Amino acid sequence: MANHPKVIRTVPPLRRALERYRKAGERIALVPTMGALHRGHLALVREAGRRAKRVVVSVFVNPTQFAPHEDFASYPRSFATDIKVLREAEVDLVWAPSVEAMYPDGFATRLAPEGAAKAGLEDEFRPHFFGGVATVVAKLFTQVSPDFALFGQKDYQQLRVVTQMAKDLDLQVKVIGVPTVREPDGLALSSRNVYLSAAERAVAPMLHRVLKGCATRIRSGEKVDRVLNVGRIEIDLAGFALDYLEARHALTLAPITSSKDGPIRLLVAARLGKTRLIDNVGV
Ligand code: AMP
Repeated sequence: MANHPKVIRTVPPLRRALERYRKAGERIALVPTMGALHRGHLALVREAGRRAKRVVVSVFVNPTQFAPHEDFASYPRSFATDIKVLREAEVDLVWAPSVEAMYPDGFATRLAPEGAAKAGLEDEFRPHFFGGVATVVAKLFTQVSPDFALFGQKDYQQLRVVTQMAKDLDLQVKVIGVPTVREPDGLALSSRNVYLSAAERAVAPMLHRVLKGCATRIRSGEKVDRVLNVGRIEIDLAGFALDYLEARHALTLAPITSSKDGPIRLLVAARLGKTRLIDNVGV
């Protein structure tokens, strides 16, 4: 295992390596990431290992899902540490293309997902985001042709968009959602948590606390609208700038007015200083 994982940076050697696995009849699971790996990513890697003999992790900070004013240039990058972590996790192959390998000169195709991608949640605040995600994930899926692909429930709308995209394009891959990994105080792990100041880090777990409180009160029969209104005030008072706190159908992400319309997912996005946090829970 000493020279593992194999790090591959262009498509032809990727295809050759994967071909060897397939000839041996081995199943392949893909974990797409943007690097700066944490225990959340590792939960996906572990689940991948349970599903398939071969685990491929992609590490690619995808420029097409960032708007010009967003943090593409400053997004945390820690490739050497990531590789060390992936070696310990016994990952077989790391697919780490350059931006030029992924989007060569003249690249001219972009997917335009609808449905869950137009639910009025993340798409409202990051209109370019799901087009970029769907495009890069479709490329990853065709490059790797995995039997399984693991995505975090942390990015719940993304999980729905990618699941639908794979279905709509008749891709063979089975997309699997993995529960959110949290800090002991409830804060969802995220590569962007390093942006939080000490004071902001102390406030950040409030987001999950409010979500859990809302879920409990909806479950006990309180009206969804009223619960959400109180939740929004709690988030404001804690010092966040709220983008949204919504109750949606867990599969379609359509708006929900009564708990009878469920299964319900509560989704939130809010800013603390310059850090934007998202989270969600099931009811
Ligand atoms: P990222 O590198 O942030 O694009 O995330 C790569 C994958 O890891 C996505 O499928 C995320 O949903 C997933 N992920 C990120 N944070 C967590 C977490 N705290 N728990 C579980 N999965 C996560």
